Amino acid sequence: CGIVGYIGDREAADFLMDGLSKLEYRGYDSAGIAVYHNGAIAIRKKAGRLVNLSNEVKAHPIVGTAGIGHTRWATHGGPSDVNAHPHTDEKGNFAIVHNGIIENYMEIKEHLLAKGYHFKSETDTEVVAHLCADMYDGDFTSTVRRVLAKLQGSYSLVFMCKFEPDKIICSKKDNPLIVGLGNGENYIASDIPAILNYTRKTYIMNDGEIAIVQKDKVWVIDFDGRPISKKIFEVNWDA
Ligand code: GLU
Repeated sequence: CGIVGYIGDREAADFLMDGLSKLEYRGYDSAGIAVYHNGAIAIRKKAGRLVNLSNEVKAHPIVGTAGIGHTRWATHGGPSDVNAHPHTDEKGNFAIVHNGIIENYMEIKEHLLAKGYHFKSETDTEVVAHLCADMYDGDFTSTVRRVLAKLQGSYSLVFMCKFEPDKIICSKKDNPLIVGLGNGENYIASDIPAILNYTRKTYIMNDGEIAIVQKDKVWVIDFDGRPISKKIFEVNWDA
């Protein structure tokens, strides 16, 4: 179970695959990445070892400079390509990766099924993607805030929206999440080893904080949208 994200000027997939490999030690059963390119979010995901995903990415390259990645430790729905993250809404407007458990996913799923949404996977996570589509008000950040307010359970969650490809949004509750601060590029990870080769400056996220990560700017707000000022934490140990 690991999470990574990148936004900058370089190929996102390179960092995502490298970062995920640094988190392999935590154990996982499947892996996937999403990268924004030319008005769409492209997804590659595979059950099994990271090498399966990396072969897939070699066979079908995924170009673009903003993306998210995930290694999954299945809790709801067995290990399979379909249950692997990222998850998307029906239109592919949102892509989500998640570590943790959405405790009230059944209730949300029934609500969305009644509204006519179709689910592809057996995961608890997929509700978050459809909820984004359902609650989208034209503003990515406010949508994520209102979606998070509906969720119970534990999570590190990372969101992409094809209408605002200049930002990646992440939040956490009872699961680890950090933002790595680069120069004209920024990183997201569930753990420090993923970013050590790229930057030593980080924001360690606390529960209830939402980070809006752009290539040359990161800002942090609470669920009500109020700004939170973060201290930079410098990592001074080696990989
Ligand atoms: N509960 C989610 C799932 O089963 C995320 C598992 C994880 O932490 O990797 O897909």
